[in-house]
Amino acid sequence: MAIRKENNRRISEVEKDSIADDLGIVPGDILLSIDGEEVRDIFDYRTRLMTEALTVTFRLHDGSLFEAEIEKEEDDQLGLSFEEPLLDTCSSCRNKCIFCFIDQMPKGLRPSLYFKDDDLRMSFLTGNYVTLTNLSDDEFERLLRYRLSPMNVSVHATPPEVRKRMMNNRFAGGILERLRRITEAGISLNCQIVLCPGINDGEVLEKTLQDLSGLGENLLSVAVVPVGITRFREENHLPELKLFDSLTASAVLDQVNRWQKYFMKARGERIFFAADEFFLKAGRPVPGPYWYEGFPQLENGVGLISEHRRQMRRGLAARRRRNVSISTKTTDKKPRIMVISGIDAGPYMNSFADQLSVLYNINLEVRPVVNHFFGETITVTGLLTGQDIIRAFEEDKAEGKTPPDVIMLPDCTLKADEDIFLDDMTLEDLKNRLKRPVLISPASGEGYLKTLDEYTGIFNKSGQRTSPIRGKRINE
Ligand code: SF4
Repeated sequence: MAIRKENNRRISEVEKDSIADDLGIVPGDILLSIDGEEVRDIFDYRTRLMTEALTVTFRLHDGSLFEAEIEKEEDDQLGLSFEEPLLDTCSSCRNKCIFCFIDQMPKGLRPSLYFKDDDLRMSFLTGNYVTLTNLSDDEFERLLRYRLSPMNVSVHATPPEVRKRMMNNRFAGGILERLRRITEAGISLNCQIVLCPGINDGEVLEKTLQDLSGLGENLLSVAVVPVGITRFREENHLPELKLFDSLTASAVLDQVNRWQKYFMKARGERIFFAADEFFLKAGRPVPGPYWYEGFPQLENGVGLISEHRRQMRRGLAARRRRNVSISTKTTDKKPRIMVISGIDAGPYMNSFADQLSVLYNINLEVRPVVNHFFGETITVTGLLTGQDIIRAFEEDKAEGKTPPDVIMLPDCTLKADEDIFLDDMTLEDLKNRLKRPVLISPASGEGYLKTLDEYTGIFNKSGQRTSPIRGKRINE
């Protein structure tokens, strides 16, 4: 146990010319203690550094101990990074939520996909949402004392019995009290509600929103997101859940809208937001960027389309301004680019296809791809797999459609730090199977345009035109 704990504090990097560098500390050395006391986690470490004099003990990589007496300015850092960013083992979740996406995945995927983290400390480092169900009162109060802000909490429902039932955890009921403690401690709070029709919508949602509305100024935002259901629920012995349809999605939008009006009156901001999927399902237009008030809940799929559209419009206008003399009549063969999207985003992405084709002198088509891997009810782009893309490509070929010259994919379909899809297919495998170049673009609107700039060579990174101008200037 002691060795495992020490390993959590193994140094991965030492900043050049930092205090630790001056002391001769190198990657592989271990931070043992500060002022004779073991460091509990990253927050303990940061807090205990806020002093002008301290004694730090290291175990060097040759096994010897090294004690350093340090005098510094109060806010000076040591310049250390650690292999384990928390300096402690990440806490896993103790719930068994009825809507958990991880429980709805097929067996046999890479192990890291099945890890259910639920660590408030990690939430500060990565912005994850946590349930607060695996913290003792003492641990919760300790973390409050660091006054780190904001906290991101998965609420789902404030009525205790509903929350306990949804999370299959008898300790999940006291969330409202903990949320009050957070906001009363002066800590900002973002909340998330995963909405399951017939379980926590309707009256339960009303009560939840009402309770949250009483949390005061430190409540920054609340996202209401619809449950996602894969085709593995039955196989994985999970209870049946319903999906939202246009009627129930409209009801949620109306309900959220009523609370937004309340907040607009009381605070001049909306605070409660419904995810994009509700608008798409209800067949209602996605609001403009002003509505999202700085997009505090983008990670929850709230305002993704609006923000993407804002960047596209702005980026297109800037490129058109610099492109005054482009000729659209050219005899060059235009490359055919197929942009892959999920079913939900397909119509939206397609709304720019003609403009992009003209601007870049290409034939751009959007190919919405059905998610057969997780099931057809999963319609977001980020959950598409390599297999789904190959299947769509082969279906098109079987129908006699001419294959595109290039495929373009948003990077949200790949693991953040590795070119691998959710079904473990590598990007290299995909390219080999499709026998086509595959362009990976950032998922943002600006990233999409920059990828096309670079591919076509028409604009450089700053949006300036670089290719020879076809056509001629008038009045020359
Ligand atoms: S908190 Fe619930 S949804 Fe999140 S990982 Fe745990 S079981 Fe899954």
